Parts: sequence; structure tokens; C-alpha cells
Amino acid sequence: MDLKTPLALLGPTFRMKRAVLLKVGLETVEDFLLYIPFRYENYHVSKIGILQFGEQVTVQGKVVSATNIFTHSSLRSSGRALTIQKITVQDDTGKIDAIFFNQKFILSNIRKGEFVSFAGRVEKFGSKKTLSVRSYEVLSNKDAEAIHTTGLVPVYSETRGLFSKWIRNRIKSLLENIRISEYLPENIRSENNLIDLPTAIRTIHFPKTFEEAEYARARLSFDELLIKHTAALIRKKEWEKRGKAIPFEIEKHGAKVAELIKSLPFELTSSQKRAANEIFEDLSKSIPMNRLLEGDVGSGKTVVAAIAAYVAFLNGYQTAFMAPTEILANQHFDTIQSILEPFGVKVDLFTSSQKPKAKSQQPNFDIAIGTHALIHNRAKFDNLGLVVIDEQQRFGVEQRAILREKGTNPHLLSMTATPIPRTIFLTIYSDLSLSVLDEMPKGRQKIKTWVVPEEKREKGYGWISDKIRKEKSQVFIVCPFIEPSETLTTVKAAKEEFERLKKEVFPNFRLGLLHGKLKSAEKSSVIKKFRDGSINILVATPVIEVGIDIPTADIMIVEAAERFGLAQLHQLRGRVGRGEKESYCFLFTQHHHGAGFTDATSDKTRKRLSYLQTIDNGPELAEIDLKLRGPGDMFGTAQHGIPDLKIASLSDLSTIERARTSAEQLFDKLSKYPTLKQKVEEISLPKISKD
Ligand code: ADP
Ligand code: MG
Repeated sequence: MDLKTPLALLGPTFRMKRAVLLKVGLETVEDFLLYIPFRYENYHVSKIGILQFGEQVTVQGKVVSATNIFTHSSLRSSGRALTIQKITVQDDTGKIDAIFFNQKFILSNIRKGEFVSFAGRVEKFGSKKTLSVRSYEVLSNKDAEAIHTTGLVPVYSETRGLFSKWIRNRIKSLLENIRISEYLPENIRSENNLIDLPTAIRTIHFPKTFEEAEYARARLSFDELLIKHTAALIRKKEWEKRGKAIPFEIEKHGAKVAELIKSLPFELTSSQKRAANEIFEDLSKSIPMNRLLEGDVGSGKTVVAAIAAYVAFLNGYQTAFMAPTEILANQHFDTIQSILEPFGVKVDLFTSSQKPKAKSQQPNFDIAIGTHALIHNRAKFDNLGLVVIDEQQRFGVEQRAILREKGTNPHLLSMTATPIPRTIFLTIYSDLSLSVLDEMPKGRQKIKTWVVPEEKREKGYGWISDKIRKEKSQVFIVCPFIEPSETLTTVKAAKEEFERLKKEVFPNFRLGLLHGKLKSAEKSSVIKKFRDGSINILVATPVIEVGIDIPTADIMIVEAAERFGLAQLHQLRGRVGRGEKESYCFLFTQHHHGAGFTDATSDKTRKRLSYLQTIDNGPELAEIDLKLRGPGDMFGTAQHGIPDLKIASLSDLSTIERARTSAEQLFDKLSKYPTLKQKVEEISLPKISKD
């Protein structure tokens, strides 16, 4: 067995979990060992004789009795009897009853005479002390080491069918059976004060102290960043080697471009102008442009892309413009056609719901706008000069590459609304140049945002009903974020919420439902109805249609807002406030008291979300997210588009900085470090993203 061994070869325990392991991206031993805990429980062992009420402790001893108790008196409302399992444990100072609820199976796991280690809380039961057990394990003998209930115990991000206890056991045994070798050059390690890799991997899972865990994390973060940055440097070098692009004439067409800009129904913001100039500069070179245009939702990226496409047209070249969804492709088609057709530009739309055009009848176009359908040979390009990819994070490396292959080194403009902090950009995307739209078009409304306590929900609905009646408000309701992709579970939740709202809350209004499993034609029709006002309320799943532009929408409700990052919520709410009407965003949470959360949790949640009430700037919110983000917070995984770092924290600037310097030292000597080279190559390999 080595780090590259597939987990599925390690026997039935792993084989049985194959599907769920793959789902969280764990394929090899290495993946598994780098599935690092997001926090640690800290258990301390106490002698039974000195336990105090209220104490969180671990007790260890011998089981002297184990019984199941039916409490007839406490028939639950469900009609099912509550059962209690009582296991009495004894050490050399005393005895205590450890209590489990409704876990009859425990009695077949734990038998009289065995040694156990129980972590839990000492509670009063009558006048007696009992231990209410949170975590337990059976020890093979009196002195065996407990891994689930003593000291620092790693807690992993869990999903259905994959629990910390199982992971912990497997990691423990893998670590006993594997030899990990160091691959970083000694000087890099000593310059950066890094512990060796075998120690780091062992102690990230089973540290003796928090300090040890920190050293381990520092080392593994460094590696992750080093590898990402080295890969970016290599991509950059390869990009430059690819061959010459067509340098476009800019000056010559200056007057025409100015005329186009003058024809727009608005004045460009100064950051749009700056971005356009940066793009012109790139387009005039014979190294193909590789630029990312980053701008908050509604900052006006599309028109910048349209201007670039016009420049390509004036130079006699075609543009391919790819968007992640049909709705967006349609929207861009409408926008760009209306801007550019008056200037003689032929714009065509390619989506999978359109019939493929036979080659002979394919009209020749100057700009092809579409979804993936663009890459699947639907659009035939004669002279592709510019590729624009909207919401670039939604496409895989491979898909982007295929589109570029349709021309000879076309220029590439990628766009995203994800605010990527500058340091991260320089590390992970250092092969790209960056233009940022950091201001909103004039007259854009600030969206009044409130975190609404649960007890005011009804009132909120009432207020919205009034607004719909009196002011023809149009409302987005975003359903709870359940899973990162649009699974059946998400769709089911959306349908249920839709039915509930229709029957119980807004019976007098017209509601529409939008989710990813609808057919394209159905989606378009719902959007169209919302756009023309024949639907008042659009209930949608959260992963849908990031860039959708409906200027008349003025109210948004986000359910389970705590599951999102602040920057992501900011992106969501950016779909309202685009028109004349004053606009509102209401954030509801599930972290409210009474839903099984403590006041502390709901306070923390409210506090975090309340930043949206005062701050109106995506990048700033992204920074706050980073600062507030505890490792493993659910909303971390929900942050679409921010590059996926498994270990390193985006807020750890000094590690980012040091890893970058080291990558620059190492990247042209990689052949001397075959393991590092291999790791870098692995992440540069194109992967096709699942949509
Ligand atoms: P995004 O950057 O989110 O893709 P869009 O390109 O969809 O934003 O633009 C959002 C809206 O703003 C569109 O309706 C667009 O016409 C409008 N818009 C773009 N630039 C300006 C501007 N400079 N002034 C006013 N409105 C603008
Ligand atoms: Mg957009």
C-alpha cells in the first residue's frame, strides 16, 4: 500500500463506502489522509469518584452491568416507548451509570466485563450522578489507547453514511500501515520552519496538543498552496508557449468603438472603461489574452464583453460567448444582439434545446452565444478570434480548452462575479491577468437588507403581500441551500416550499417555481412570465441562474441564509435592486432559538448576517467571510467559485506569501523533485466539471 493506492482495494470496509467516499472526493489513500479534521474535541479523563455535576468528562473502567429499560410512563407523543440503556462502569474510585437513549444496539456492542471509555456530561438523575454519553468506545484491554474519547479527538466533515468515528478508525489504521516520505527539499522546509510530512500527516489527525495540530496544519497548508501556485506558474509558461495569437488593431477602429459606446443607453462606469482598455491592450498583442474580468453581480460585465467582441468583429474575427445555463445564454443573446446588431454584427444563439442547424443552412455569424452546445460541434467557426466565458467557475478546464481549440490561439476573456481576494488570485490564478469592476453603475439602488427573526416571519409575509398588491412588487424567494449541487433533495425541498407558499402564505398571488430539473422550455417560460409580470413571486433553488437580470424584481427572501457565505448572499441579493424601485432583501435563518439551536448559535448567526445590513460591497464581504470563517463551516463549502482549498485558509496571508516565494524558487527545477512534480501535474490535469 502506498499513497496512490485506491481505497477500494483496501478491503470490504472501504469498498462498501465507495460511493460516499467518491462523493466527497476521496479516491486514494492520499486523499483520505488529507481529509483533515475541521476541529478537535478535547476530552479529559476523570476518575469516577471525583466527578462533578455539569462536567464534560471521559470516564474509563469496567462494565459491571448493562441493561435496557423501557419507561412505560414516558410514552412519547409518537406512541413509541422511550427506551433507556443503562451501563454501569466502575473504576478504582467508584461507579457511575452511563445513560444512552433509544440505542438498544449498544447492548450488543458493549457487554459486561469489557473495558470502556465514555465521553459525556455528568448529570443529575434524581439525586444520583449519571453520565449522559456522547461518544463511546470499547477498549481491547484495560490499558489500551482510546481514540474517540480521550485527548484531542479529530472531528471530520460528515455526510450521510460517512461519520467521524469510522473515518478516525480507518485513518488510525492506515497510519499504522503506511510509510510516507518527505518530498520537499530540506532548504525549503527549514526556511519556512515546516515540520516533516510524515509527522504533519500523523499529527493533523491525532495531535497531542493544539500547538502540534497547528504545526501540522501549517505544513499541509504550505504544501497545498505551493502545489497550486507552482501549477499556475506552469500553466502560465505553457500559455505563453502555445503559439501566436492574432494581434487586433485597436487604434484604427477607435472611432467605431467610440460610436458603439456612445450608442449605449447608459454611460460606462469608469471601471468598465478601465477594464475595456486593459482588454484592448491585451488584444493588441500576439500572446493570446488570458484575462479574468471580475465584478460584482450587476456591475455590467456583459457590455464590456460585448465591446471586446465588437473589436474582434471589426478585425474580421468571430467571437464565441459561452454561458453556463440556457437562461443566461438567452439573456446574453438578447442583450448583445440589441447592442451590436445596429452595427452590422450578426449574432447567433446555440443551445441544446434548439435544433442543430445543418451545416449548409448555418448562417454565418460574427458572434456565437450559447451554452455547452457551442463546444459540441454545433457552431462551426471559420475564424474564431475571441472566446468569452461567463461565470467561468462553472466550467471545467477541459470545456474551456475545447472551445479555444475551435480557433488558432484565440484571445480568452473569462468572467466571474466571485470576489476572489487579491492574494488568492496571485497565488492560484497567477497565470491570469485581472480586471476588476469595482463600482456599480450609477443609480443602482442600495438593497435594504434585514435579518428577520423567526417571530416576525408572518409579519414579513404580510408586508410583502401589501407591496405586491399596492406597488406591483416582484419577489424572488430563494429556498434553503441543501446541497452544493442541484440534487433531487434540493428540488424536492423547493417544490415543498413552493406548495406551502402557494397554499398557506400567498394564495392570492401568482407563483412560479424555478429549479434545475425543469426542462429548458419550462425554465424559459417561467422566467418570461416573471419578467413580464404575470408571475408575482418566483420561488427558486439557490444554485440557479447566477446572472439573471430582471430589472423589475425588487424583493428577495433568502431562506436558511446562514448556510451561505456573506459574499454569496450578496451575489444572490444582487438580482434585485436593478431597476427604479426601492429594493429589499429579507434573510431568514434556521438557526433560531426554538429550532434546536442555542441562543449563542443564533446570536452568532445573526451577527454574521447583519454585516449585509450595512455593507454593500462584495469584496469587502468576502474578506469578512474569510475572517469569520471557522474551518469547516458549512458555508465554506457553499462558496461557489472561490477556489477550492482543502486545508489552507484563505486568510493565512503569511503562508500564502511564503508558499508563493518557494514556488517561484522551485518551479523551473521541478525535474529534480519528482514527487512534487507529479503532484503539480496531477492538479494541472484537465478535469471535466459536472454540471
Ligand atoms: P453582471 O456583471 O452581473 O453580468 P450585467 O452585465 O448583467 O451584470 O449588467 C447588469 C445590468 O446593468 C444590465 O441590465 C445592464 O444593461 C446594466 N448596465 C451595465 N452597465 C451599466 C452602466 N454603466 N450604467 C447603467 N446600467 C448598466
Ligand atoms: Mg453576468
